[in-house]
Amino acid sequence: MNSETEAGENPGRQWSLKDFEIGKPLGKGKFGRVYLAREVKSKYIVALKIIFKEQIEKYRIHHQLRREMEIQTNLLHPNILRLYGWFHDDERIFMILEYAYGGELYRELRKKGHFTEKQAATYIASLTHALAYCHEKHVIHRDIKPENLLLDHEGRLKIADFGWSVQSKSKRNTMCGTLDYLAPEMVENKAHDYAVDNWTLGILCYEFLYGAPPFEAESQNDTFKRIVNVDLIFPSTPSISSEAKNLINRLLVKDSSKRLSLQKIMEHPWIIKNVDNL
Ligand code: AMP
Repeated sequence: MNSETEAGENPGRQWSLKDFEIGKPLGKGKFGRVYLAREVKSKYIVALKIIFKEQIEKYRIHHQLRREMEIQTNLLHPNILRLYGWFHDDERIFMILEYAYGGELYRELRKKGHFTEKQAATYIASLTHALAYCHEKHVIHRDIKPENLLLDHEGRLKIADFGWSVQSKSKRNTMCGTLDYLAPEMVENKAHDYAVDNWTLGILCYEFLYGAPPFEAESQNDTFKRIVNVDLIFPSTPSISSEAKNLINRLLVKDSSKRLSLQKIMEHPWIIKNVDNL
């Protein structure tokens, strides 16, 4: 699967398991396992995600999965993990994905504790560009949280999630699970739009710099309260620049119409000053 034979460039191509040599397991999600794999002819390395149809039926996500796979196939952006194609047999669905050598960003964050301002700004800028691209294509609400972000061999960020991943069990060992990343309008069950992504960028920016999301609490109920009150506290360590705090303050705004736009994030002085290679 080089640039000429890649499934993305050749959407009519019918793949089957015979086209791949399966290598080591890369990870396990709720709906199946992911393996390193190599396309036999081109020797192109991919990640093969195997999902059991039984699981799809059990959770009644067949239509959702199909729609998400179609969306994902058409998203061509350096910061969005490619889905080159898919095929199935009687029991399983196989997704041919771009291989992210660097693994989960979440693991990197836990290993380091927190990122430098340069690293955090570069990840936020990558996410902002990818989200702007999604919004242009009318793909809103991506489930962006660290465990859905992967890194390639150059450390470049790749959004790897699907809309249905919100249904998957949180891999984080906190009581509040995914509540941490949700905007006030979402936890309060109000109407919401693309501005939820801008809120999440504020949450991630904070978590990248401090090592934990801003509204973390003992119970889900307390996290809920902290989110709706925008109970934002900046710890004294690590010492973070006022420009970074300014960006976070302008994203974690309760009124979704007053949050900084994606365009304005890209123009923010902290981003301009700190971004390395996207
Ligand atoms: P998932 O089922 O998507 O949650 O994937 C389970 C785990 O497999 C992830 O947490 C990653 O560690 C790993 N993984 C998934 N997709 C890829 C990929 N394209 N490249 C490398 N590792 C991956």
